[in-house]
Amino acid sequence: MEVKVLRKVLDVNDTIAEQNRHYFEKKGVFVLNVMSAPGAGKTTILEKTLTSLMPKIKCAVIVGDICTTNDADRLSKSGVPVIQINTDQFGGDCHLAAHVIQRAASEIQLDGIDLLIIENIGNLVCPAEFDIGEHKRVVVLSVTEGEDKPVKYPLMFRVCHTALINKIDLLPYLDADIQLLRNNIAQINPEINQIELSAKTGIGFKEWITWIEDQIKLYQKTRNCA
Ligand code: MG
Ligand code: ZN
Repeated sequence: MEVKVLRKVLDVNDTIAEQNRHYFEKKGVFVLNVMSAPGAGKTTILEKTLTSLMPKIKCAVIVGDICTTNDADRLSKSGVPVIQINTDQFGGDCHLAAHVIQRAASEIQLDGIDLLIIENIGNLVCPAEFDIGEHKRVVVLSVTEGEDKPVKYPLMFRVCHTALINKIDLLPYLDADIQLLRNNIAQINPEINQIELSAKTGIGFKEWITWIEDQIKLYQKTRNCA
């Protein structure tokens, strides 16, 4: 019985996610869904990412948290339009669902925007199950979280196109085995693109920024051909 109910919820979600994707395509906006456990460094990565991309690439951000506008306050300092979603108004959901993004997207001016980044709620589990109408998915995993996380939370790593391995500046102080971590990610998803970086020092950002720019170019090219 419970399985049936969940399937129905996800069917409705997928329908709205498709509507979102059509809307984003009409606006010519490439959409990235960025996910991770709490504290992996999504917001710090995004602060640096926005600074690197602007003004060449026009960005907007939707950020989800259960409570507080802390992340939106930090990200709006970069001068990009930011909308904060607090899910405690919707029963405290621990993920962003397509209908919540639909509403947020209608409130943000997307004309002239090239890239919409959605910072999902810190959680390695259910955000992976909810299509929100994005084009590509990114998971952030920091080296402090343990090498076994990809095998413990396989769905997240299976559905993502890029894995950002963050906080590599801390490696000299940890017993973390980064090769084991990379192998565990590759074991779950051999196709995933892995980038090691540090949002603190900026190492690895060149590769990450290039990946985003390539994705936007590819998206705009296929859009022009359609
Ligand atoms: Mg955050
Ligand atoms: Zn959830």
